[in-house]
This record gives sequence, C-alpha cells and structure tokens, in this order.
Amino acid sequence: MSVTAIVGANWGDEGKGKITDALAAKCGFVVRYQGGANAGHTIINEYGKFALHLLPSGVFHPNVVNVIGQGVALDLHKFFSELEELLSRGVPAPELRVSDRAQVVLPFHKLFDELEEKRLGDSAFGSTKTGIAPFYSDKYFKLGIQVADLYNTDRLRLRLEQSLISKNILLEHLYNEPILQPDHYIDELKQLGERLKPYVCDTTVLLQQAYHRGEQILAEGQLGALRDPDNGIYPFSTSSSTLAGFATVGAGLPPYAMNRIVAVTKAYSSCVGAGPFVNEIFDAEADELRRRGGDAGEFGATTGRPRRMGWFDAVATRYGCLVQGATEVALTNLDVLGYLDDIPVCVAYKINGLQTESFPVPADLDQAKPIYTKLPGWKSDISGIRHFGELPDSAQRYVLTLEKMIGVPIKWISNGPKREQIIEKP
Ligand code: GDP
Repeated sequence: MSVTAIVGANWGDEGKGKITDALAAKCGFVVRYQGGANAGHTIINEYGKFALHLLPSGVFHPNVVNVIGQGVALDLHKFFSELEELLSRGVPAPELRVSDRAQVVLPFHKLFDELEEKRLGDSAFGSTKTGIAPFYSDKYFKLGIQVADLYNTDRLRLRLEQSLISKNILLEHLYNEPILQPDHYIDELKQLGERLKPYVCDTTVLLQQAYHRGEQILAEGQLGALRDPDNGIYPFSTSSSTLAGFATVGAGLPPYAMNRIVAVTKAYSSCVGAGPFVNEIFDAEADELRRRGGDAGEFGATTGRPRRMGWFDAVATRYGCLVQGATEVALTNLDVLGYLDDIPVCVAYKINGLQTESFPVPADLDQAKPIYTKLPGWKSDISGIRHFGELPDSAQRYVLTLEKMIGVPIKWISNGPKREQIIEKP
C-alpha cells in the first residue's frame, strides 16, 4: 500500500510529466491535487507528443484511473478539449474521475487575470492568464463554485450573484470595463456540468478505498517547490501549494499514506515567468542551452515563452527537496549537457558579501549572486544508455556529486524525453 508523490524541486518544468508517465504503468491511480491548466507537462510516448495541462499524466495507461482532486482549479473547457485531443489522436478513452468538490474556473477569472496583468504593466508577475490567481482568490474569499453546485440552479445563481457584486465595482471603477450579469453564465455552466456528469464522483472516498485495498496511487504535482506560496519565491509564486504535503488535502488522501516523494529536478535550471532566478545565464550561453534543452528547446508548454536558463543550482534544489520532503530524486535532461567541456554548478550564494549555502527569504534573493564550481563534461551522446554503470565516468561523477550536494538519493536519471529513456540508479 503506498502513495507516491511526483513533485518539482525547482521553478517548475522539471520533467514531472515524463517521470509520471514512465512510473504510472505500475499504478492503479494517478491524481492531480493542485493548480490548473496554467502549466504543461510534456509527454512523448507511442501515441506521439502531448502537452497535458489539466489531465493527469496517467491518461495514456488504460489500466490507470485518473483523478482530478478537489484542490485543482478545474477549467471545464480545457478538460473537454484535452480529452477530445487525446481521443482524436488515437489514445484509448482514459478512465477519468473528477471530484464533486473541485471548484470551477469561470470566464471572469481569466478576464480578471488579464486585466490585472495589464494594470500592473512593468510590475506584472508573468501570469499565464489562465485565471488561476483570481480563481484561488475567490476560493479563499469563499466565492468559488464547486462542481456539485452546477447541478443546483438556485444555488449556482446565488453564488454567481454574490461573486459578481465586488467584481462589478472593480470592473467599473478600477478597470473601466463593462459590468457582468450572473444570468449570462448559468446556461453554459449547466450544460458543461451535464457533459461532466459521467466523470463526477466523491474522489476522496474513491481514493481512500483504493488506498485501503492496497492500490498504488501516484499524486502528480504541478510547478515546483519554489513556486509554493508559503515556502517559495513569494510573490512570484503560484496560488496553490506545489508541495507533496498538500496532496493529502487537495486529493483527500490520508497524510500517513504518503511514503514516497520523488522530487524531480533538471540537470540544469530553467524558469518561466518573472521573479528572482539567482543562477540565470544570458546571451549566447543561455541561447545554446535553451536550444538544446528539453525535447525541442526550452519553451513554455502552455505559453510557448522562451524559458529563462541557468546551470544546476544546488542551493535552490537542496531547499526544494527539503520542503518537498523528498525521499528520492529524479534527475532529468542529463543528455542535454553532452556538449560541454566543463559544466558549471551553483554551489552557494553570496548575499551582501556573505556566502551562504541556505536558500534565503525572498527579500534577500534579489541581492544574491551565484558562486560556481565546474565539473568535467562527457562530450558524448548518452541518450541511448539504460544502465548507470554504462554512463561515461564524468557523467556518473556529475550525478554522484549532485546527489551529495542535494543530500537525497538520485534514484532515476532521465536521458531523453521519451518514456523508455530512463535509468534506474542502483
Ligand atoms: P513538467 O511540467 O515538469 O512535466 O515539465 P515540462 O514538460 O514543462 O518540461 C520538461 C521538458 O523536458 C519537456 O520538453 C520534456 O519533453 C523534456 N524532457 C523531460 N525529460 C527529458 C530528458 O531526460 N531529456 C530531454 N532532452 N528532454 C526531457
């Protein structure tokens, strides 16, 4: 009996989707427990290349039940469009369940996301404009709409009316935009609710029963530890907890059930959006790493934005693994570094003249400067290797050195974007 979490140790885009897809075959359930359609997991398997935004990464395995838990920001249009895309590309209809307590992303959440980023101008956060911050604000303001509300028209209308009172004041007086009418949304939401009905259930009961039957459950995190609102680079964080610990809340799993936490990190760093990124590299050095990184260059799976690039950051990754409570690490994209004579690794930060190996509070991050060491490269294509002992000596040394710096065993090494390009380190 076990629950495994697969979560990001950094800023997101670590390759969690690939690792989840690779490990899902042995699981009965894959569950998303936070975030929404605001980040993408790239998966390459026998059906082709997919960018999943909302659907759990187990959807390619016919024996896996894929669950969207109550902690997720459920974008109904995205749910159906992703599902349709899978089916149209020959993927067998996945087993999907959606929590009746999950809350729904509404059209005005996206509108407010856009208006607010526009209002902030140069101080904008680099939102993906998928409505996530306004959605979670409404949730904690107790103005959200749960899936179960879609089947109770009076309640739905009342909830919308309550939600739009303050929004209309903002629209009129802050953003100079036309106000919104609750009735405008009701028919569409009810229709979407009817379409969703076959997937809706009490997923907490479903998962708890599965756990007690002894099924393997995989909880799939979105973004990474440094985007966690409590522990990350606030305010350049996301709006829901990106930590493994939150899976027990956002999916309704017993806290004592989680006994394995796989923190995913790249063999270098990448970051989308604004905010402090201490080890960022620029110009030709960054362009080359970006061009060679990922499966087709490092560009956001949701936005297509070029990712900001850096070398491996041991300070940030050690901290990311700590707050995730990682029991093992999956190191991805090792193959990408095969072009370098020497590979820089950030081992410490200098803040106001003082050296530290601890990840600082956001107020100090802007002053932090990276301190690098260099490790020898292997100058070869390692993407076809399947056993750790067959990696070139310097690639083995790179992995073992990172492992020592992070302080958590690296159990998996991903050396290519495809499902089978993975090495289990003894
Ligand atoms: P996620 O959101 O954490 O799942 O990460 P993304 O899918 O946004 O970004 C990871 C990128 O790395 C994608 O382009 C993947 O196809 C790619 N990728 C994952 N693992 C590997 C790997 O080991 N090698 C290479 N070259 N690309 C990888």
